[in-house]
Amino acid sequence: MIRRVIELLVLVALGAVWGWAGASAAWTFSGAMLGAVIWGVFDGLRAQRLLRWLNKADVTRSPRLSGVWGELLDRNRKLVKKLEKKAQNSDARLEDFLAAIQSSPNGVVLLDSAGRIEWSNQTASNHLGFDPQRDLGQYVRNMVRAPAFQAYLAGGDFTHEIQIDGQGVRPSQPSKISLQIHPYGKKRKLMLTRDVTAVLLAETMRRDFVANVSHEIRTPLTVLSGFVETMQSIPLDEADRVRYLGLMSQQAQRMQTLVSDLLTLSRLEGSPAPGPGEWIDSEELLTHVIQEAQGLTQAIAHPPHEIRTVAAPAFWVSGAKTELLSAMSNLLSNAVRYTPGGGRIEAGWRLREDGGGEFFVNDTGPGIAADHLPRLTERFYRVDRSRSRETGGTGLGLAIVKHVAQRHGGQVEVESTLGQGSRFVIALPASRVRQRVTD
Ligand code: ADP
Repeated sequence: MIRRVIELLVLVALGAVWGWAGASAAWTFSGAMLGAVIWGVFDGLRAQRLLRWLNKADVTRSPRLSGVWGELLDRNRKLVKKLEKKAQNSDARLEDFLAAIQSSPNGVVLLDSAGRIEWSNQTASNHLGFDPQRDLGQYVRNMVRAPAFQAYLAGGDFTHEIQIDGQGVRPSQPSKISLQIHPYGKKRKLMLTRDVTAVLLAETMRRDFVANVSHEIRTPLTVLSGFVETMQSIPLDEADRVRYLGLMSQQAQRMQTLVSDLLTLSRLEGSPAPGPGEWIDSEELLTHVIQEAQGLTQAIAHPPHEIRTVAAPAFWVSGAKTELLSAMSNLLSNAVRYTPGGGRIEAGWRLREDGGGEFFVNDTGPGIAADHLPRLTERFYRVDRSRSRETGGTGLGLAIVKHVAQRHGGQVEVESTLGQGSRFVIALPASRVRQRVTD
């Protein structure tokens, strides 16, 4: 400030001296006034430069100003720098925030007060079938055409969620999307979407399972209680009594097998996968299940099947012995039960090229049509319903085999040709197989 006063005084003094030197006292006053005006013009120019810079507020390029204007410029520059830093921080935080929403497994769409898409993450776009960049600014009612959504949007009651068919997926894999709108701010809306396909599928499977179990148990139970009633109301001779008791025992046995298979399945599902601790001789496992199959064919097939083991170098497999035996004997018992008497059944263990091992069962039975193959391991799925029932099948055998295989890191493979026979395989990974060292 003092500097400005000095500048002014110096210019006024110079003007006065110039006036006085040139003429009279009146000129002295005019010279002083002129000095003051010149100072005013220069000062105005400096103020003008500061104002011009403030308009752009570019901290990288600022004018050189001295005195109070320089001071003002400096303070403003610091302020602008501070604000710029603050804005950068806010931008970075906004970016972080959007990146977090972007990576959410749920869909998020922001709608403006007119219902136009302001922002959406990729998940929402996948769920609803629009493009998160191209379709910005579009009315959401034009982008999501499902009638349930149109009615939801028009109704204005957003207290509940709705379900619509997912978009942008293959028709062979239909998906279901749950969607809810949450109004906020000034008539703006937050729309959240969630893929509920798996949840609905699990719910349907649970319902089907309960219905199937009830049905499987009700049938033998009805037969059993029918016999009980008959025996209670009609006097029977010894031969009939024995026959009836035999049939009743058959039904009771059927229920027992079903309950036992159900318990096996729930044990397999509820317990941790077996560790690699126990190493079992593949030949020992094979001998055990072949003996069982021989007994079964003698009991139910006329004439019995020709059951052969296929010779191959034995090896060790690691896992739970009881589980492996149960899975292997399920495959062999299926071969015996579905192959007409006199047919040929082959079973064995062999090493695979990838270092893994497989247990296989080949039969010369009726074979299975290709469209049934993907569903064979579903619980209660049967191709030949009556044959399964006749031979005491529960429809759970292959589901158990699949679980055992998966728990050991492997899988079940099926090849079959109608009229020629089938090949069922339990394939185990190399980590579960160790070759025998021969001496
Ligand atoms: P089930 O107790 O009915 O045998 P599984 O789960 O073991 O149930 O088998 C499912 C279905 O697969 C059977 O009902 C049967 O129709 C078919 N199946 C299984 N193994 C064979 C086979 N070796 N030959 C022909 N069909 C088979």
